[in-house]
Amino acid sequence: MENSIQTRLAQIKSTLPTGVELVAVSKTHPVEAIQSAYDAGQRIFGENKVQEMTAKSNILPSDIQWHFIGHVQKNKIRMMAPYVAMIQGVGSYDTLVEINRQAGKCGRVIPCLLQLHVATEETKFGFTIEECTQMLEEGSWKSLTDIEISGVMGMASNTTDQDQVAREFKMLRDFFDYCKERFFSNSPAFRTISAGMSGDYPIAIAQGSNLVRIGSSIFGERDYSATNK
Ligand SMILES: *Cc1c(COP(=O)(O)O)cnc(C)c1O
Repeated sequence: MENSIQTRLAQIKSTLPTGVELVAVSKTHPVEAIQSAYDAGQRIFGENKVQEMTAKSNILPSDIQWHFIGHVQKNKIRMMAPYVAMIQGVGSYDTLVEINRQAGKCGRVIPCLLQLHVATEETKFGFTIEECTQMLEEGSWKSLTDIEISGVMGMASNTTDQDQVAREFKMLRDFFDYCKERFFSNSPAFRTISAGMSGDYPIAIAQGSNLVRIGSSIFGERDYSATNK
């Protein structure tokens, strides 16, 4: 039986080119909504609060791949380390170190994306291109064997100026290419460009994104008043 979540999911998936994966961003939405998308075949879900993601993961099918897409607080890493499939949005070297430590305790290798600050807004987290280059050049990250740096993640400015959005996504793409060649040419795992949300994912894909994070276009608008945001 199809419901509106399944209809919207199918519609979006039909527009994604081969090779572009979908994270269904389920933050604030109930487990029933996630189960509907799961029943339609979706397996990757994104959440931005560790407690909420953990509670949901305890109830929902165990083959779901949970991507943490929020701001990573170091004291919350331990809670998700046993099960998280990917931590997107790592914005500091210290955070990589702590993820590595917690992954090691669980006997896991946790895939991580480096979040780049490519938007003009101050509020978005992440490395600047310069900071990230410096961190990679410095080289200590190579000793972190319980994480796998799998690519980059970014958010464009929240603007109607589509050229600006495209320029920001291109900046992310160019930085990915630079890193791939300079630091990760022997690492097949470094292959993900996570970019694009409901409002801008076609632009992100045109600029090379291969992982889109789509929430409201699948699940509807979020009601933050119903949760602790
Ligand atoms: C909420 C969120 C999304 C999804 O946003 P929509 O506009 O609902 O598609 C994508 N990425 C991040 C990092 C988010 O926090």
